[in-house]
Amino acid sequence: MTSGWRSARHQRRLFDRAVAQYGSREAASRWVLPPDDSAHVRGQAVDVGPAEGMAWLEERGAAYGLCRRYANEPWHFEPLTEPGGTCPALEPYSVPSGGPG
Ligand SMILES: [Zn+2]
Repeated sequence: MTSGWRSARHQRRLFDRAVAQYGSREAASRWVLPPDDSAHVRGQAVDVGPAEGMAWLEERGAAYGLCRRYANEPWHFEPLTEPGGTCPALEPYSVPSGGPG
């Protein structure tokens, strides 16, 4: 596991850094959500690595209720089904609840 729960303050730093890197809040939000929208801040997301770990969890995560959520983030998993359930379809990338802006 490479990341789990994050404080709002830490998430804010990550988001601000991503805005500087990608040039806009909208572009940054595809990779890092602001604190109010991040499942990491709610304690409802984990990031895993390396690639073998991502592949392992993508194959077996539903048994634990953990699903990959975004097509562009193979490392990011959230509890999106009941253990043994079926994961929802991948979303292309993360979108802030208030919309880009
Ligand atoms: Zn993540």
